[in-house]
Order: sequence, then structure tokens, then C-alpha cells
Amino acid sequence: MSITSLARPEIQALHAYDAAEQVDDTIRLNANESPASSSIGNFRRPLNRYPEVRPQRLQAVLSRRFGCASDQLLVTRGSSEAIDLIIRPFCLAGVDSILTPSPAFSRSRHYAELQGANIIEVATRAERDFAIDVNAMLSACNKATKIIFVCSPNNPTGTPLPRAELLRLLAGRSDKSVVVVDEAYVEFGEQPSAIDLLGEYPNMLVLRTLSKALGFAGARCGAVAGAKDVIELLNAVQAPYALATPVVECVEDALDNDQLAIAAVTQVRKERSRLMTAVADYDFVSKVWPSDANFFLIRTVDAAAIVEHCKMHKVLLRHFDGDLSDCIRITVGSPSDNNALLGALNSFGKD
Ligand code: PMP
Repeated sequence: MSITSLARPEIQALHAYDAAEQVDDTIRLNANESPASSSIGNFRRPLNRYPEVRPQRLQAVLSRRFGCASDQLLVTRGSSEAIDLIIRPFCLAGVDSILTPSPAFSRSRHYAELQGANIIEVATRAERDFAIDVNAMLSACNKATKIIFVCSPNNPTGTPLPRAELLRLLAGRSDKSVVVVDEAYVEFGEQPSAIDLLGEYPNMLVLRTLSKALGFAGARCGAVAGAKDVIELLNAVQAPYALATPVVECVEDALDNDQLAIAAVTQVRKERSRLMTAVADYDFVSKVWPSDANFFLIRTVDAAAIVEHCKMHKVLLRHFDGDLSDCIRITVGSPSDNNALLGALNSFGKD
């Protein structure tokens, strides 16, 4: 059984938008475009023309890079768009639900709310470095739980989901839920991507992004990988021409030169351990959690005051409400950014 049978019936019947044909070396009088090409920008493709409905070269390069077939991948406007594209076809408003650990990246909750889907949250195990509790997640599922989101490493805790646990989740919900593995930070950790499991688990979708390790958050480009039939379904939901010509060309150029990204990841990992060791020394920091991401979480005596103090010193940190209100998430910056943070923390309580 294909997991697409869990989708809303009207979406299962939906076809991708029938866009005007694009053929090289032809005169395009079929798309109501302007014949006048702009001289703004220095692009390889003329801006008076619509971009490709789906960016073929990007799809091929990214699928090779992430380790799947081209027809198992859809290029998206950041991985955030992919979260929306997955929720809309699978969740019927007021009936179906998504399941997510807590704490976790809040965007799945946001898009579930937009769709009117119910949200089931399952607490992570704070006493075990916020490990995702797969047993509790499996028990919290019901017939209407169409999608399970897990981030590995998780945001804001930096905790990876061990592969054996992921396999239990995938097997436990095999034809009952789509399991979305959000790997936004995977390059910063030790664990490999789950993408090699796609063939074995047709209920799995993997999200990747260019916004973190690859350093292209401003380009708004990511991807969702999964079984071909699920990708076809998401393709029918995504807007035509979603990726603009300047974005496509910028990302093509960036991918042709990936040495930069590799160097940046190595430096971030090194700086992460330097910063974690230094931060652990402050007497107002009571806990530094391990992290597989480009950030880490700390517990402090007065998180709000520390965040405010650092802001006064022109360094922004992330503070959360609720259960994590005594915690701060620190993104690892460049060596000089990190020194600026340590300088600001040195003067906390002494101003
Ligand atoms: N997933 C996780 C876990 C994230 O933390 C973020 C961004 N903070 C995203 C996805 C979205 O990234 P983008 O849309 O830039 O690809």
C-alpha cells in the first residue's frame, strides 16, 4: 500500500499545474511573458521569462548530493515550505493530526495550525538530554495521526535521534503515518543522513536545507526527499515556478563550489566545543547540553537578564517561553562573533 492513500482523497486526485510548455530554441508566445528582457542583474536565463516550473538542474545536483534519485526529490523554498507542503495534503482540518516531540522546531505546529490540523505533543526526556521518546510517541498515535515530525538533530536541544530509534518509529507506523525526518542540522553531527533508508521505508520523508551548513539561508532553498509517489503528490501541491531564476542560479553557482561549506562545518564544530567549554565555566551557567547542531542549549540563573545583557553588547541570543524559560540557545558564530559573546558574558553582573 502506498502511503499516499493516507492523503485527502481530493488531493490524491489532484494533478500538477499544467504550465505553458518550455522548449529550447523556440519563440515563446504561449505564456503571456514580455518580449523585452531586462538588463538588471547578471543572470544566465532571461528574467522576462518564467523560470522552469521545477528547476531540473538543481533537482539533479541536490538529489546526487543528498543521496537519492532525482524523482525522489522536490526542491522547495527552504525546508519550511516542505513542512507546509506535507501537512496540507495529508491533514483534513479538524480531523487529522500531526505528532511532534516537545520541545522541537515550532514550524510544524505553525503550519498544522494554519491547516486546522490537531497537534499532539510528546515531551522529550529532559533527564536524558532531551532524547526523543519513541515509545511515548508510538503510544500517543491514533488513527488520525497522519504525520509524525522528528528533527535530528533536534532544535533547540541539539539532540540526535539514534538510527535504531528512528527505525522503530518508521516500522511502528509503517502504513499508518508519514514520518518526516527533518535533517536541517545533520551536517554538524556524527550521525549520517537517513536518506539511505528511503527505499526500505516508503512512509519516510527527509527534509534537507541549504540554510545551515551550506550557508545559503538567504537563497531560501531546501528539499524534501521521499518515495516517488509521495514526491509526485507534493509536486502537485507546490506552486508552479516556486523557485525564482535569481535563486536557482545563485544556488547552482554555490553548489558548484562546495569546498566553502565543508570548511565552515569543520570550523563551526571546533568553535562549538570551544564555546561550550568556555560557557560552562561561568557560575551563572548551571548546565550545557551536548549538541550535534550549530547551536547548543544552556541553563542559567536568569536567562532573560543574560539575553538582555548580551543584546546591550550587540550580541543576540535566543530565549524561549514555557518549559525552557531558564534556558538560552546559543548559535555558534565565527571565532570573532564567539569572542564577542564571551566578552559580553564576562561582564554580566558587573556592569
Ligand atoms: N528545520 C529546522 C529544525 C530548523 O531549525 C529550521 C530553521 N530554523 C528549518 C527546518 C527551516 O529552515 P529553512 O526553511 O531555512 O530551510
